[in-house]
Amino acid sequence: MTEQTMTCRVLLVEDIESEATLVIKHLRRVSGWRFIIEHYDRLVPALERARESRFDVVLLDLNLPDGAGIEVCQRMHEAAPNTPTIVLTNQTSIELGTKALREGAQDYLIKREVDSTLLGRAIRYAIERNRAERALRESEQRYALAVAGANDGIWDWNMRDTEVYFSPRWKAILGYAEHEIADRIDEWFGRVDQRDREKFDEAMSQHLEGRTALFESEYRITAKGGEVRWVLSRGVAVRDESSAPWRMAGSMTDITRRKQTEARLLHEAMHDALTGLPNRILFMDRLELALRRYRRDPHKLFAVLFFDLDRFKHVNDSLGHQVGDELLAQVAGRLLGCLRPGDTLARLGGDEFAIVLNDIAGPTDAIFVVERLQEALAQEFEIEAHAIYTSASIGIAVSSESYRTPDEMLRDADIAMYRAKNSGQATYAVFDTYMHDQAMFQHRMETDLRRALDKGEFDIYYQPIIAMHDQHVIGFEALLRWHHPSRGLVMPDEFIGIVEDTSLVVPIGWWVIERACYQLAKWQRLFPLQPTLAMSINVSGKLFLTDDMAKRLAALLEDCGIAPQSIRLEITERVVMDHGDLVLSTLSDLRELGVQLHVDDFGTGYSSLTYLQRFRYDSLKIDRTFVSTMSEKVDSSAIVEAIISLGMTLGMQVVAEGVETPEQFNRLRAMNCPAAQGFWFCKPLHQDAVNDFLRTGTPAALISGNVGH
Ligand code: C2E
Ligand code: MG
Ligand code: MG
Repeated sequence: MTEQTMTCRVLLVEDIESEATLVIKHLRRVSGWRFIIEHYDRLVPALERARESRFDVVLLDLNLPDGAGIEVCQRMHEAAPNTPTIVLTNQTSIELGTKALREGAQDYLIKREVDSTLLGRAIRYAIERNRAERALRESEQRYALAVAGANDGIWDWNMRDTEVYFSPRWKAILGYAEHEIADRIDEWFGRVDQRDREKFDEAMSQHLEGRTALFESEYRITAKGGEVRWVLSRGVAVRDESSAPWRMAGSMTDITRRKQTEARLLHEAMHDALTGLPNRILFMDRLELALRRYRRDPHKLFAVLFFDLDRFKHVNDSLGHQVGDELLAQVAGRLLGCLRPGDTLARLGGDEFAIVLNDIAGPTDAIFVVERLQEALAQEFEIEAHAIYTSASIGIAVSSESYRTPDEMLRDADIAMYRAKNSGQATYAVFDTYMHDQAMFQHRMETDLRRALDKGEFDIYYQPIIAMHDQHVIGFEALLRWHHPSRGLVMPDEFIGIVEDTSLVVPIGWWVIERACYQLAKWQRLFPLQPTLAMSINVSGKLFLTDDMAKRLAALLEDCGIAPQSIRLEITERVVMDHGDLVLSTLSDLRELGVQLHVDDFGTGYSSLTYLQRFRYDSLKIDRTFVSTMSEKVDSSAIVEAIISLGMTLGMQVVAEGVETPEQFNRLRAMNCPAAQGFWFCKPLHQDAVNDFLRTGTPAALISGNVGH
């Protein structure tokens, strides 16, 4: 309070007139204050006034005509609970004064001793103390409200006598009512879940030892009825002069929901939604774990199995994705049924699955499991009234010291799987170092091939195709060559297979087609023969799968000005068989365009006649293996003869490949084979040599030095 004049409203309750006058006189003399005094000589009207109006202080005599004793004080306190009261007593009733203090009075004064100084000071202190008490009460109330309204439980631990206050909410988080939990610390610590015990104790002792500013721990706790909940507890210790903690208080939050959400998100991030199996991320994690265990104890062998469903794409394309999805889910179920609890089955994506097979004695154990899995998959699947059969190609990689990362091991299982797939469906292969070398080689080749295309290392050689009756040249077959910077001339059999497995197949394929077409246009102009020269071009099956093949070819032919009839696309028998339906629309577009279609290597791929009939090809090329063994093998001779007559029956041309000797030539002529190619006539030639050949008309076998073989 400052030295300025303060206004103070006083309610004076005193029945003796002279006493009242005396008090008022003293009040008037108190410096710095201006008192507005209302005086009552009865209690009841005074109480009424106190209720309706706010006073800064009450001066209260306890001996009134309508009330006496401590009861007066109580009634005034009820009427004006927030107004400070100073009791006025006689010398004889000091005891009553002290009682009044307990009933909420701020002070008591003995009437005879009162003077203005004493009175002023008493009033000032009473007002100040009352204000402080009110502030404290409000703050306590606010705190109590916060505790009651907060979602967190509150605890306050007196470490000296191990007593704890747990707020009702604290107990409610654990499912208990107020009276069901005692104020003892073990009611808390004793419920901490065993799994999180160590972590909890560590956080607590770190804080008590003063190593952390805040105690904080997320842990599981056993609630009523044995239910486990997740909570977060935080707290701060209060320390004495020697920094020893003597009290600690804090909160407890129920984080069960958050933990459940976290767990669900974690599960979703680690699992495949369709099958519910672990996904690649979790699989790699488990594989890493298996590798680590193996490194600690190399006797504990394990294996990685890599699966790819055979013909899955076919199911998806023909029966729809929904059936495909259901098949994957059912496959997952069957595979799981064949495994032990310690093994991990995962879906890596698409129709690829993988398994970590733990605790095996050796590769044979893994093979047993693989056979069991293949047997399970061989049983019919019934989906939406379709009976579906599937099988898997499986690659196996067995743990070894050489594996440093999970990726390496999965990669090898993948390589083995490809090996298995190439040797037929429903097979398996165990990875070995030969496969590794092979894979490394392929990888190098792929990089080399990319460079070859960029740097112009490819070239085309042309082998003449001859009419049998007069041996004149009717056309050429374009054959790809690779001038490798270190390996020299590389033949297509060494790299075409690799090209077909990569995205290079399209650009390289078109490079050959374009180059061969422009070359043919040039020769047709330079050597206008009758009938016009034709060009046979080998085309990979992948090219027929692109939508715009016929359109692109039409544009090209127009650009170089050659008739579509001069172009013969050679498709291997295998392509016709493998992609029969898928390439059909491209084939009919090409037929419409007018280019000819030849089945290459006929006789090696078990073509069904249905395929040949369904799509009328223009020509069959008899594979070299039959021609070359005609003289030794009666079978070969019979096959060649059969193909020739089949061709004639179906109205197709027939070209015999690989004619190397005059005997072969004569035999083919005797069989009425219309056309042939082979070293006996001419080896594949560089374009410059073809110019000479066309100019002289001499079979190139007689032209030395220009052969490309
Ligand atoms: P192909 O289409 O059956 O081609 C005939 C192969 O037989 C050629 O081998 C040719 O040089 C060889 N040949 C011809 N006459 C004789 C003979 O009298 N005796 C022997 N031993 N061989 C003979 P090349 O050029 O090594 O091609 C091999 C295969 O590579 C081709 O077989 C073809 O399937 C494929 N190919 C070649 N060029 C291309 C191409 O540009 N694209 C595609 N996709 N494949 C190609
Ligand atoms: Mg060919
Ligand atoms: Mg051939």
